Amino acid sequence: MEGVKKNRIFIKTYGCQMNFHDSGLIEDGLLKNGFDKAGSLNDADIVILNTCSVRDHADHKIVSEIGRLKGDKKIVLTGCFAKQIKLKRENGVSVNNADIPVDYCFAPDEILSIPEILAGNFEKNYNGDINDKGFKEEFKATAKDDYQNFNLIEEYFYNKKVDSGFATIKIIEGCNNFCSYCIVPFVRGKERSIPFEIIYNSAKRYADKGVRELLLLGQNVNSYLSPEDDKKDFSYMLESLTKINGIKKIKFLTSHPKDFNDKLIELIASNDKISKNIHLPVQAGSDRVLSAMNRGYIRRDYLNLIEKLRKKCPDAAFSTDIIVGFPTETKEDFNMTLSLIDEAGFDFLFGFKYSPRPFTKAFEFKDDVSLEEKKERLGMVFEKQKKVFSSILNSLRGKRLNVTILAVGKGKNPAEFKNGILFKGEGLNDRTVYIVNKDKYKNLRIGDKGIADITYIENNRLYGEVI
Ligand code: SF4
Repeated sequence: MEGVKKNRIFIKTYGCQMNFHDSGLIEDGLLKNGFDKAGSLNDADIVILNTCSVRDHADHKIVSEIGRLKGDKKIVLTGCFAKQIKLKRENGVSVNNADIPVDYCFAPDEILSIPEILAGNFEKNYNGDINDKGFKEEFKATAKDDYQNFNLIEEYFYNKKVDSGFATIKIIEGCNNFCSYCIVPFVRGKERSIPFEIIYNSAKRYADKGVRELLLLGQNVNSYLSPEDDKKDFSYMLESLTKINGIKKIKFLTSHPKDFNDKLIELIASNDKISKNIHLPVQAGSDRVLSAMNRGYIRRDYLNLIEKLRKKCPDAAFSTDIIVGFPTETKEDFNMTLSLIDEAGFDFLFGFKYSPRPFTKAFEFKDDVSLEEKKERLGMVFEKQKKVFSSILNSLRGKRLNVTILAVGKGKNPAEFKNGILFKGEGLNDRTVYIVNKDKYKNLRIGDKGIADITYIENNRLYGEVI
């Protein structure tokens, strides 16, 4: 309508890559449905908070953000924390509505419906005020699982905007594993794989638009199985995507150790387009704690898997997740975690203090490791990891790595490029290599490939020279 401005949206995303992927889909849908993108949160009429709920700390951050936003903006809550609130209300668990004064609340499996529903409910009048038809109760009745609606997924995935050589594709939603500490199966639901054809065709479209690197996402990508053909498992999918013209590299997140089979290991080892940078959450090093966590493997299984992968892919780089202070974790149990970090040799780890999550099995356990003890253990985990990574890097001194130049110039942080360091490259195993600036490299450009000699290590960074 002439004279009526469009509503401006701002999406703030918390948590994991899955949420960032979902936020991209929500934004595409809203722009298509007549909304404008606000330059900042302050400029927005409608703020969408795509939230995380994996730890207690994440919940607190979101509640504080909602508190700050109270006022004239419409607040739309989605993601895992939104589902937690819905579940609590459905189960009669008291939720202080005054703490969560949001206008709309969508679960993660309702995100594809957000644009249409908001477009139908929000209008802007001539004064620039938003008329909200309101639908909180109405929406409850229409709630549905978007991940069972393949036409809707197809429409979103095929039209997803790409503005770089990199794109993410969610291949599976939800999780069936019910690790005892984890809220994900409750807030994201049971596993639903997205049909192979949709993923394959999306990847092809991305490649046609210039995408060269894909990141496949899911809570447990290894258990992917196309709903229309159970021969199309994760290995089949990975291999098929590597055959698409233009696709140069495929990464994936997250793998569950118990589902990482030999077929997948062989494929990763034999296919240069598949990243050898593997995220493999272990969570703890003691069999007793692993069992209480319901992880489905013991320490030896995990270390055997790492060993098998290393034998087949000597260049592989591993990262992991660790939880410290799980209920009943003794000092002895914790020392097993420290020794596992040594034995596995991770390039990187994400460490967390355990916090009880509603609806989970461990919520019923006594949270008996004190906060001080958790903090101390977490500090020890990071200290240990620093040493392990430093020795991995030192073992690379004098080696030659294939590198692709990722950045040229001074970068955002001039300290990164001190001493005339100019190029940032990515090695075969995705490790970052800083290339010393020399006149002879002045013609290097982003995307160029070369071989780098690793000449020195400083502050846990590899520095090298292109030969
Ligand atoms: S595998 Fe375990 S930790 Fe990972 S999402 Fe599923 S339940 Fe949570």
